[in-house]
Amino acid sequence: MFENLSDRLQGIFSGLKSKGRLTEDDINAAMREIRMALLEADVNFKVVKSFIANAKERCLTAEVLDSLTPAQNVVKIVLDELTVLLGQTDSGLVLSSRIPNVIMLVGLQGSGKTTAAAKLAYLLKGKGHSPLLVACDVYRPAAADQLQTLGDEMGVKVYRGDGQDPVKIASEGVRFAIDNLRDVVIVDTAGRLHVDEEMMEEAANIKAAVKPDQILMVVDAMTGQDAVNVAQAFAEKVDFDGVIMSKMDGDARGGGALSLKQVTGKPIKFISAGEKPDSLEPFHPDRMAKRILGMGDVVSLIEHASKIQAEEIEAETAERVQRANINLNDFLEIKKQVSKMGGISKLISALPGGDKAMAQGQVDTGALDRMETIIFSMTKAEREKPELLNGSRRQRIAAGSGTSVQEVNQVMKQFNETRKMMKKMMPAAANAGRPTKKG
Ligand code: GDP
Repeated sequence: MFENLSDRLQGIFSGLKSKGRLTEDDINAAMREIRMALLEADVNFKVVKSFIANAKERCLTAEVLDSLTPAQNVVKIVLDELTVLLGQTDSGLVLSSRIPNVIMLVGLQGSGKTTAAAKLAYLLKGKGHSPLLVACDVYRPAAADQLQTLGDEMGVKVYRGDGQDPVKIASEGVRFAIDNLRDVVIVDTAGRLHVDEEMMEEAANIKAAVKPDQILMVVDAMTGQDAVNVAQAFAEKVDFDGVIMSKMDGDARGGGALSLKQVTGKPIKFISAGEKPDSLEPFHPDRMAKRILGMGDVVSLIEHASKIQAEEIEAETAERVQRANINLNDFLEIKKQVSKMGGISKLISALPGGDKAMAQGQVDTGALDRMETIIFSMTKAEREKPELLNGSRRQRIAAGSGTSVQEVNQVMKQFNETRKMMKKMMPAAANAGRPTKKG
């Protein structure tokens, strides 16, 4: 997603930076290129027009042109304008004080509604809520079964009622939540392949019956401009509060996400980038704009990492690391944690310039997999006591893992360096908590 746009914009900016001083013509030429890049990314043409007009007006001031770093100022202005385009402020999900809170999901069939309902439940459960999923998509074969399976996997109750009348199921679902102390009800509604009266009417009837605190529309990022048109139709007929943009992990050009707020007036509240339950994230326009401009999104990375650490680092490993007595099993643990965070590609692409480095093949994404295979080829004793690994053992491991002795040596070198570093850090850490001697 956004890869081409991101490349184009970064190319335009590096051209500007190499110039030093900028003239009006330079700015005009850069704006023309940005205009083309946005149009090629499938951004709505009216949105592009006002974007360029705003950015140009801000760039063509004496303050920018005469500054010592005009190119940087232009980048900053484009960053600001992109942030505005994406919705400016974080919107997230704000639950009202009503219990149970009712969230209704609408959207076309295949947009990712059912999956998003489950992901939302997962997210809320992680925040200490007790959600209930209500299956009102009675037309798509197996939609309720799909929701049931997802709910079962996450330990979230799914209310299915008679599986016939969506309005009745929705109302009963809310009743069920009250009786069973569930504080958030997530209603999954039926979609059609195209916007049609029947679907709108049914959504309106469910809305009237359960009076949702929030209606979220699920929009498939892969459908680009079409997504925006569908959202506009929904905004007029059913109205909704915000968007969950799904399939952001695909290779969509990004135009849908970039046009949605300006065209429909509705903010993107969440993005979903994968099929796993934890792949729903609150949407932060400023962070996304930075990513598009190749400035990385280290904040999200850190947030994600600390969440996983809090949840999952086992006490035993933590204790071993504390003692600086790590062994090769801890190295496997690192691989496991990286996988949980979405893999090495996701981590690298969150760093400034990371997406580009990945696209240019500068990152060896298979290195961790090779490390794992090598460690798996060691005996239990060798993993626990890496000192045992002499030349002949290393040869055996290389043969067993289908790698070379050099690669085995490389893993051992990395391991020894990590262990050395931990040993250096540990005395400082151990001393940190001690009271200082008063003299
Ligand atoms: P619904 O008809 O709107 O309920 O759509 P579903 O929830 O059944 O989703 C349709 C398909 O899209 C399913 O195969 C999902 O696994 C897939 N899907 C949903 N969200 C995402 C996403 O964020 N990324 C990817 N790659 N696939 C998704």
